[in-house]
Amino acid sequence: MGEAGHRVKSVLVNETSANDFIADAVRRDNENGTYSGRVQTRFPPEPNGYLHIGHAKAITADFGIAQQFGGICNVRFDDTNPDTEESEYAESILEDIRWLGFEPANIFHASDYFDQLYLWAEELILKGLAYVDDQDVETISAQRGGYGKEGVESPFRNRTVEENLELFRRMRDGEFPDGTRVLRAKIDMQSENMQLRDPVMYRIRRGHHFRTGDKWCIYPTYDWAHGQSDAIEGVTHSMCTLEFVTHHALYDWYLQHLALPFEKPEQYEFARLELTYTVTSKRRLRQLIEEGHVSGWDDPRMPTLRALRRRGYPASAIRSFCQFIGVNKTNSRHSIEELESFVRTDLNRTAQRRMAVIRPLRVVIDNWPVDENGAPVVEYFEVANNPENPGDGTRMVPFSGVLFIERDDFAEVPPPKFFRLSIGREVRLRGAYLVTATDVVKNPEGEIIEVRCSYDPASKGGNAPDGRKVKSTMHWVSEQFALDARVRLYDRLFTAEVPGEATGNPIDDLNPNSLEELVECKVEPALGDTAPGEVVQFERLGYFALDPAEPMLFHRTVGLRDEWAKLNKK
Ligand code: ATP
Ligand code: MG
Repeated sequence: MGEAGHRVKSVLVNETSANDFIADAVRRDNENGTYSGRVQTRFPPEPNGYLHIGHAKAITADFGIAQQFGGICNVRFDDTNPDTEESEYAESILEDIRWLGFEPANIFHASDYFDQLYLWAEELILKGLAYVDDQDVETISAQRGGYGKEGVESPFRNRTVEENLELFRRMRDGEFPDGTRVLRAKIDMQSENMQLRDPVMYRIRRGHHFRTGDKWCIYPTYDWAHGQSDAIEGVTHSMCTLEFVTHHALYDWYLQHLALPFEKPEQYEFARLELTYTVTSKRRLRQLIEEGHVSGWDDPRMPTLRALRRRGYPASAIRSFCQFIGVNKTNSRHSIEELESFVRTDLNRTAQRRMAVIRPLRVVIDNWPVDENGAPVVEYFEVANNPENPGDGTRMVPFSGVLFIERDDFAEVPPPKFFRLSIGREVRLRGAYLVTATDVVKNPEGEIIEVRCSYDPASKGGNAPDGRKVKSTMHWVSEQFALDARVRLYDRLFTAEVPGEATGNPIDDLNPNSLEELVECKVEPALGDTAPGEVVQFERLGYFALDPAEPMLFHRTVGLRDEWAKLNKK
């Protein structure tokens, strides 16, 4: 049974993760009694798109640390940008987090604190630590300078407290057009850390916010909202990705200068997860959809959690992968084969084995018996559902005189080293009989449409009594009992390990052949009982997930060969 569509209770994450410097920090804090042994983390998604495999790393780390130390982890939506955020995204994000196996202790929103943040901004103004700047963002950004380049102070930097307070209130009251003024923290225009060169705290933006509606026309920046929200909620260890290293000092500056009555949260930065042959940036993923390269956020070629789920990736495999790679401080790109290897290991244990022929070729056994009514005899063979898991039992698979095998399993003129079916050669039909091809039938175009065979009645079960050997065993489906199915095979979405590395635009490296749909597949009858979202193994072909919505549409999750193990043997 696949996990798709099921809600999994929070699962425990293993205690050990490679390079887990954050766990070390928590242990130190606990030894020193910093937060009286309390551990609280949060996962802070911006509701402007769907979660992807990179987020899974952050979620596993955030929830994992809390679980490991008996603490709690909340979700806090970073909903400070009214233009791009929607409640639809927020809901899907929660769904994906739960699917991954984690249950937030609380669900908060940065917008819950807009009133409080506003008051604290006035407090900084009163302390002479924030000012209204009448310049536009381009000017402000140019004046900020750069590393080794002097910053230029705004002509509005030394306004009086009274003037700043009045202007800030008028900003809030909607007296100025969008983008005409900002509130900035007054820190240090010559700091070596650009984030400290008077960062913007508020911008004017008339956008309808999905939670606060039209109440506000000024919105806090990420930096101004984030640390304060952490503090309000009682977060102790606030994890984010490495690009926020330079924001760390600003995070601390706000908390220090507000002198809040809360325990001070500490920010920890870890490396983003990137995978080969894919992109993990919401902006890039959206581009793929908007330009029609994929069918949507849940197109199984996408690295989003919804897509991976639809494709049949078990949540437990994604968690194991994230735990295995651990939380570290060096940005690196993991090989997609490594993730697939976790998926395969997981599915090998759980997936039921089935027979499906995705490119069918008809095989007629000429010496197959008929019954007293002249109808071909039907026999049933007992086949194990999962040899890895005897408890999964067996099923009866019907066999008769007309079958389908894979087109690739027959060659009229066998090339060297081809040991599957050809004229005069004997092979095993898995668990059933030994058959020998005798002839082919062709259509007027000269294509083979049928193979004629004879079978050895003494080889029932797949072995001849005289012990003679055959070189290959092939899967098959009885024509009489076959169900029709569609199958989608996927290849890498991009042809380059680092999409866009050469040109800057990942689209240039799109793989034009990333999807192949086979519409005339023939599968054994047991596959009619597959549950939506369930992943099964099609023998010899790989793991396939039944689409959650469309009947008899199977997505190939992964092939059977472990390319990761192969790569690592070299
Ligand atoms: P994107 O660049 O795709 O828009 P983001 O960082 O803006 O991603 P958020 O919704 O803000 O997305 O991210 C929520 C949390 O997930 C943040 O703490 C962020 O650092 C983390 N995160 C995002 N992408 C990755 C990634 N590739 N690897 C690890 N953590 C990530
Ligand atoms: Mg973000």
